[in-house]
Amino acid sequence: MIAHDFDYYEPVKIEESVQLYRNLKEAGKAPYYFSGGTEIITLGRLNLVKPDAIIDIKKIPECNQFGFDQDHLFIGAALRLNEFERNRSFPLLSSVAKEIADHTSNNTITVGGNICGQIYYREAVLPFLLADSICITAGNSGLKMRNINDMFDQHLLLEDGELLVSLATKKEYVKAKSISIKIRQQWNTGYPLVTVAALNIEGFIRVAFSGVCPFPFRSESMEQILNDRNVSLKERIAAALQKIPDPVLDDIEGSKTYRLFVLKDILTKIVKKLGDD
Ligand SMILES: Cc1cc2nc3c(=O)[nH]c(=O)nc-3n(C[C@H](O)[C@H](O)[C@H](O)COP(=O)(O)OP(=O)(O)OC[C@H]3O[C@@H](n4cnc5c(N)ncnc54)[C@H](O)[C@@H]3O)c2cc1C
Repeated sequence: MIAHDFDYYEPVKIEESVQLYRNLKEAGKAPYYFSGGTEIITLGRLNLVKPDAIIDIKKIPECNQFGFDQDHLFIGAALRLNEFERNRSFPLLSSVAKEIADHTSNNTITVGGNICGQIYYREAVLPFLLADSICITAGNSGLKMRNINDMFDQHLLLEDGELLVSLATKKEYVKAKSISIKIRQQWNTGYPLVTVAALNIEGFIRVAFSGVCPFPFRSESMEQILNDRNVSLKERIAAALQKIPDPVLDDIEGSKTYRLFVLKDILTKIVKKLGDD
């Protein structure tokens, strides 16, 4: 339970939700877009977020899109993670999403809520970073479409009140050969010690990570090294590990040394599996 009152809104249009957010802000309130609500409720119980207005986006049709046009797969931000267990149109997203939380929680957590959340693992972003997906957002200056790699730097760079509506991914990228591996400290649900997702685009392996640093990231410098097939795989992986951004997590879940040890093993498996010709 959240121990204070808040207003609840359920807009059915994108413009209505953005306008509501703006009006509430101007009235001195603290509005929050609400998708799955798992993080808002968790942090709200701990008094770490104090929403006094909730804008539930689940009734907005564009936020629930799931389908192809001629060139792209469109995925609405309010789609729940379990949706991708049933529909495997984007296999890498299905395999990452399935491992995010337990089945019951995945019935509530949404793609957009995970990507926009404060808790820093945000694993659902990895497939979209690898596939150069387009983020469709709505804010004070209307709808915008931008490559996610131009607007994700540790977290999604949204203006205050900007709503992530959906993500569009090129058809050929959703079907590309892919793999994801998540290693936890223990058990088979929970936050990652290390998660690596990878996509093979025309023989070039792309890699993105969660759990290594206190933010998810895709590393093009690591990709360049890993794809240099003139060098032995062992040397490539050692060199790639030197390019991990600072800081590497070093906490009760796992020391920095242990995380790097696990990462080395995962990267070896991934490069071998995705084809190291
Ligand atoms: C048991 C459990 C285990 C978990 N394990 C993991 C894990 O291992 N890895 C991992 O990555 N996650 C994990 N999570 C999920 C994570 O911690 C968050 O709870 C979840 O991602 C939030 O998603 P939501 O849809 O519930 O978002 P919400 O709580 O609805 O929103 C989260 C934040 O994003 C904002 N927001 C939501 N949607 C939008 C939008 N469309 N546009 C702009 N802003 C928006 C909200 O205002 C809020 O600030 C776990 C969760 C649970 C319950």
